[in-house]
Amino acid sequence: MHTRRAAIRSLSRRSRKASGTILLTAAVLTALLAASTTHGAAPDARRAFRYLEQICRIGKRISGSPGMERQQQLLIQHFEALGAQVKLQPLRVTHPLRGTPVRLANMIVSWHPTSRERVLLACHYDTRPYPDRDRFRRRGVFLGANDGASGVALLMELGHHIRALKPRYGIDFVFFDAEEFVYSSSDKYFLGSEHFSRNYKEQPPGHRYRFGVLVDMIGDKRLTVYQEKNSLKYAPALTHSVWQSAKRAGVREFVAKPKHEVQDDHIPLNTIAHIPTCDLIDFDYLYWHTTKDLPRNCSGASLAKVGRVLLQWFEEMPD
Ligand code: ZN
Repeated sequence: MHTRRAAIRSLSRRSRKASGTILLTAAVLTALLAASTTHGAAPDARRAFRYLEQICRIGKRISGSPGMERQQQLLIQHFEALGAQVKLQPLRVTHPLRGTPVRLANMIVSWHPTSRERVLLACHYDTRPYPDRDRFRRRGVFLGANDGASGVALLMELGHHIRALKPRYGIDFVFFDAEEFVYSSSDKYFLGSEHFSRNYKEQPPGHRYRFGVLVDMIGDKRLTVYQEKNSLKYAPALTHSVWQSAKRAGVREFVAKPKHEVQDDHIPLNTIAHIPTCDLIDFDYLYWHTTKDLPRNCSGASLAKVGRVLLQWFEEMPD
């Protein structure tokens, strides 16, 4: 914001020396256009945080639970009101504890739905059944403010900005179910993203995903996002392009160095669907899988920063 005004001011000053008003108008217009492509629309930190709180007020959002259903209703309403096309992609799994069949669903929110070349922006929207890394209450309530709600809240906020963008590709927000529908260490992770990836490979849709970006645990009050090692392995060019956009957007919390190798929903997207996908994740979160993964340990400013990087990246998407 500060830079933008300065640029316009200095251009106007130079233009005043020139003779015609046409020149002045052209200069101002150019400056405004440059400013709008460089900075894009800014995500609203307070609104993003309100979304995070709203999601957490539902309580637990375990796959197949009433809380998950309430969250799905909330998201359908939210994105339809913003003019997106919303679809559920059902999947059936066996309950890891009870052995009974459970119906789950990924949610796909499409912007510019007629574009056949698309990019995917994903997060998981289920919460882990228990906070099993908690020191005292391993069977307590796991709210997943960062590990679950942060990605969802950011996508809800970005929903306000996508239609105004003119991205090179159509954009799909994908909410994966059952990222961690796990009760014991032998239970399978990533059921939703694996289903999505198999489906994409075995019944190819009329469109093609050029890239994918996954966000997970990006609400930490003390945000630092390093390059995740599996992202560098499977999608190096894409990963570098995101950090370059972060640099241009002036978001210093994105550090262009590798740290952490994370198993996440991007693995099936890369290995099964062959969509180059990187994971934006701040894995240095003190409250990971504990009862303290609460809104008070997250911040709207962090969500907005990641949002700024993504909006910048959408405008600069590589070929
Ligand atoms: Zn988790």
